[in-house]
Amino acid sequence: MNQIAPDILDRLRAVVGDKGVIADPAEMRPYLTEWRDLWHGVSPLILRPASTEEVAEIVRLCAETGTKLVPQGGNTSLCGGSVPFEGGDEIVLSLSRMHAVREIDLENDTITVEAGCILQDVQQAAEEAGRLFPMRIAAEGSCQIGGNLSTNAGGTAVLRYGNMRDLVLGLEVVLPDGRIWHGLRGLRKDNTGYDLKQLFIGAEGTLGIVTAAVLKLYPRPAAVETAFMAVPDVAAAVAMLGTAKALSGNQVTTFELVPRLGLDMVLRHVADTHDPLEGRHDWYVLMELSAGRDTGALKETMEAILVEGYEQGRVLDATMAASEAQSQALWKLRESMSEAQKYEGGSIKHDVSVPVSRMAAFIAEASEYVVDLIPGTRIVAFGHIGDGNVHFNPSQPPEMDKQAFLDRWDEVGHRVYEKVRKFGGSISAEHGLGRLKRDEIVQYKDPVEMELMRRIKRSLDPQNIMNPGKVLNPEG
Ligand SMILES: Cc1cc2nc3c(=O)[nH]c(=O)nc-3n(C[C@H](O)[C@H](O)[C@H](O)COP(=O)(O)OP(=O)(O)OC[C@H]3O[C@@H](n4cnc5c(N)ncnc54)[C@H](O)[C@@H]3O)c2cc1C
Repeated sequence: MNQIAPDILDRLRAVVGDKGVIADPAEMRPYLTEWRDLWHGVSPLILRPASTEEVAEIVRLCAETGTKLVPQGGNTSLCGGSVPFEGGDEIVLSLSRMHAVREIDLENDTITVEAGCILQDVQQAAEEAGRLFPMRIAAEGSCQIGGNLSTNAGGTAVLRYGNMRDLVLGLEVVLPDGRIWHGLRGLRKDNTGYDLKQLFIGAEGTLGIVTAAVLKLYPRPAAVETAFMAVPDVAAAVAMLGTAKALSGNQVTTFELVPRLGLDMVLRHVADTHDPLEGRHDWYVLMELSAGRDTGALKETMEAILVEGYEQGRVLDATMAASEAQSQALWKLRESMSEAQKYEGGSIKHDVSVPVSRMAAFIAEASEYVVDLIPGTRIVAFGHIGDGNVHFNPSQPPEMDKQAFLDRWDEVGHRVYEKVRKFGGSISAEHGLGRLKRDEIVQYKDPVEMELMRRIKRSLDPQNIMNPGKVLNPEG
């Protein structure tokens, strides 16, 4: 195992002081274990700096000594980017002590926060100021803004507000040579050359350490309507998205696909869940509309969308939530889908995207292709289809051995990704590449694009000290 020289470790400790160092093996474990328990990294130290200056000093020292760094937020990402490799020669730099809200500018509708702020705390701060920070993901109680930025997180409100790329106006970043880029601008218009902040968003910590960001705020919606509708097929679901956008004048906040197979799994395994509709149907959509004013008009809009759907044969049955509790019950069905799949044995997960217009054909063809490989596989395809993003998660045939099914992960993945390629999609819609998809992406991304990414990495981080081996394979 490679070791970092003791004098370098001493110098790093000195930058942050005792409060900013974790070296006890038991306390280090959560920082070294990936969310799904797939990887267990090794590191001599976890550093928890308290300021941008401390981050910069650590990075300068690492640049001087060629020491590798792994930036870490809430460690909730699902592709192994946030934990070190097993070699023991990488330092984990956790942003968790940098959680100040630096400024809220209500006239500019912006909030400036440090990278270690928990997403839920930012939502809360916005709410207390009478505004909305619209990013919503199930990990919001533990993921951090720096992690959200570095993975370009999406979630359930992307359809209306965009993903993290769309929610940022400025960044403060410590570069791999230790310099601080003061890019904390709150400008909606700034055409003065390349938009450098976008380089760091979605870079998974490979180009620098995000220490703060200026984020956009929105008016809080005063009215929200939630509906759960049965549709004959995915094509009808997609058509309903168009109807809903047109009739509501773009008030659709979320549009989530729910398959009957997945719903059955939820109803079987998750407490306090109930089928909201009487008959059985193959597909459902959970849709939310929101508006700034509560005049009753939004309810009428939702009703009009559903009526039009019935008339066109695209909606077979539907229910509208009459209270916040009913809305939460509908959301629970959608949000429990991953958990419910666990009780059904092995499942092979793919977080992919295709253009919305090709979603129905993708799901149909990919399902057939996977079932043809392993007959009896139960395809659970659900999620943010309003954004062209689907969690395509085949569950094992009930009678099959779990491990035997999971052993075929690569074969199944290959079939799914072939179809993703055919339909012009992406093999990672939301979760990034990290370690999990680092090598696979080379087969699916334009070689010119891969080469440009390598050049950018080399020019910003020539020593390859910043989260090395994530996103890009250093071997080429
Ligand atoms: C239950 C659950 C639900 C989820 N749902 C969604 C979802 O709907 N949509 C979605 O997009 N994701 C989702 N995720 C994935 C995950 O929550 C997001 O990727 C989240 O944005 C990661 O934030 P984090 O703070 O945990 O980052 P981490 O996991 O700590 O880090 C992620 C990556 O960013 C880098 N990084 C972290 N902080 C910094 C920084 N300050 N500067 C530079 N690099 C940094 C790390 O090195 C790593 O490569 C979900 C995860 C879970 C567990």
